[in-house]
Amino acid sequence: MKCRLCDGEDLVLHYSQGNDGQFRFYKCMNCKLVNYDLTSGLDQKKYSGGYIDPYFEEHKQNRTQSATYKFIKKNVPLKGKMLDIGCGNGKLLLLAKTDGWSVNGLELSESYAAIVKEKFDIKVEIEDFLKYDKTSSYYDVVVLKHVLEHLSDSRLAMTKINNLLKVNGYGIFEFPNIESVEFKIKRVVSKIKISKKKYREDYVPGHCNEFCKDSFKYLLKLTGFKLVHWELYSNKNKHIRLLSMLNIGSKARVLVKKANSPVNLGE
Ligand SMILES: [Zn+2]
Repeated sequence: MKCRLCDGEDLVLHYSQGNDGQFRFYKCMNCKLVNYDLTSGLDQKKYSGGYIDPYFEEHKQNRTQSATYKFIKKNVPLKGKMLDIGCGNGKLLLLAKTDGWSVNGLELSESYAAIVKEKFDIKVEIEDFLKYDKTSSYYDVVVLKHVLEHLSDSRLAMTKINNLLKVNGYGIFEFPNIESVEFKIKRVVSKIKISKKKYREDYVPGHCNEFCKDSFKYLLKLTGFKLVHWELYSNKNKHIRLLSMLNIGSKARVLVKKANSPVNLGE
C-alpha cells in the first residue's frame, strides 16, 4: 500500500479497530497521513441519520454549525458567495443567508436538499462532490465540515475546492485531529489493554484518511492553499467553553486561503 496523500511507501501500523483488530490504519512517515486500509471495507451509510430541525438549537449538530458560522464571522474579512459541501439540514447556510451572504449547498441526500430549498429558499444541488464538475472560480468561501476524512482522494477534493474558489478565496474545514491528546490517550489505553473497546458486530470504519496538522498542511501545499488559522474544538457540551478557551479538543476547525493553482502531480 502507498500513502494516498504523498505516494510514500514508508507506512507503519498506527492502530487498528474492530473486535479482532481487523481494520488497520497506517501512518505515513513522510506526510503523517493516517491511511485506512480500504481493502477491509468501508461503511458510509451509517451516517445517514434523520433530518434535524435547524431551529432546534440544543441539538449537537446545530450547535456545531452555529459554532462554524461564528468562526467564519470572526475570521473571514468579507461577506460574499458561500458553498457548503454536504450541507445537511442547511443550518450553516441559513445563518449565513440571514446575515447577508449569498449561499448554495451541495448534498448527497435528495430529501435534505428538497427540505432546505423549500423551507429556506436555498439552492442545493444533489451531487457526489468528487463527481461535481463545476470549476468556475465563483465562491468566496467553500465549507467542508466532516467530509474530508470520508473521501479517499483528498488531493482531488482540495483541487476541486481550489477551482471553485475565487483568487484569495477561503476554505473552512472541520475534521478529527488524529494526533489530538484525546486520540493519543485512547490509543495508549487500548494498547496497554486497560479497557478494550467493544465494537458492534457489524462495525466497519467510515473514515478513509485521518489528518493531523502536519498532514493537513502537506495537503494544502500540494493543492495551492495557505493555512491561516487552526483551532481545536470539542462537541462535549459541558466543557465546551473551557475546552475552546484552552484550545483543546479532538476536532480541528481550520481556515485556509487559496494561494495559487494546485501543483501538477503529473497524473
Ligand atoms: Zn504520505
